[in-house]
Amino acid sequence: MAESRLPNPGSEYGHCVEQCVHIDCNAGRIMARCKCQFCGEPVGYETGFFKREGQESPYIIDHAICVEKDFFGPHGPACSV
Ligand SMILES: [Zn+2]
Ligand SMILES: [Zn+2]
Repeated sequence: MAESRLPNPGSEYGHCVEQCVHIDCNAGRIMARCKCQFCGEPVGYETGFFKREGQESPYIIDHAICVEKDFFGPHGPACSV
């Protein structure tokens, strides 16, 4: 599963800073507002996340960092010898 990242608005690959009518820009704005399933914070920009297709909401979003924390538990990955 590839990690996605929303570039900052106005940056080279980011969407327009101002409200606009571009479909791609609007999709980016919607995604940035989607809340992470683990921590409940919005996805935001320049943060790694995983995206799944949602049923009620347009996207189901998990921060990559939250998925890793959950996977490895609160103390991080176990030391391997
Ligand atoms: Zn735009
Ligand atoms: Zn999160």
